[in-house]
Amino acid sequence: SIDVRGVHKKFGDFVALDNVSVTIPAGGLTALLGPSGGGKSTLLRIIAGLEEADAGQVLIDGVDATHLPPRKRNVGFVFQHYAAFKHLSVYRNVAFGLEIRKRPAQEVRARVHELLELVHLEQFADRLPAQLSGGQRQRMALARALAVEPTVLLLDEPFGALDANVRKELRDWLRRLHDEVSVTTIFVTHDQEEAMEVADQIVVVNEGRVEQIGTPDELYDAPANDFVMRFVGPVT
Ligand code: ATP
Ligand code: MG
Repeated sequence: SIDVRGVHKKFGDFVALDNVSVTIPAGGLTALLGPSGGGKSTLLRIIAGLEEADAGQVLIDGVDATHLPPRKRNVGFVFQHYAAFKHLSVYRNVAFGLEIRKRPAQEVRARVHELLELVHLEQFADRLPAQLSGGQRQRMALARALAVEPTVLLLDEPFGALDANVRKELRDWLRRLHDEVSVTTIFVTHDQEEAMEVADQIVVVNEGRVEQIGTPDELYDAPANDFVMRFVGPVT
């Protein structure tokens, strides 16, 4: 599991996260849901180790990761505007993380093939990222993030820039992928429908605070306050 305990983060005088505590169960698919500017990406970046909190702790599977750099946290991440290596093929992009860890060539080959199969990109192995569609590129990014067998997968609006149909397709596909590899996954979205349809658990983040944590049904049936009710409730 991931335990965020009393995390506080300021940018200058602005409080981006105000005493946030949340436990994210191992193996689940959890959404961080909330309006723009609420602090979702900041929280995800603190879990990833890309940003340091001013106060509080982050525990990953019981280990205090608060001061560990990202590469020691065993997390994989994908962000909305994903920076792939433009001059490397899809295959080489996915292999990269394994190669810098000096894994044996044979192991790298086997693992990359397995991953490309998982994200249905086997036939695109030799293409450059620029020769893929947006959805295919995001799938490549997921394969890259999964290559080093992270115990935690962090996705910041991975489908944000895509059109509605592709989003829907990737969303279903993420659900299936998660059921297959069952790595603890946290994805950020400001789309309540997306969170309600895909996640096992939703953390509602607004103005630097956690408004509620619960299953989609719990949030819908018993919103903790007016904000949650308006944000996830039925459109009236
Ligand atoms: P969005 O849905 O628009 O991506 P978010 O919930 O991810 O929003 P954050 O990116 O976490 O929001 O930002 C939370 C607040 O902190 C925002 O008001 C933002 O302007 C501010 N903020 C984030 N990063 C920085 C930074 N590096 N310097 C100053 N302010 C920042
Ligand atoms: Mg964000």
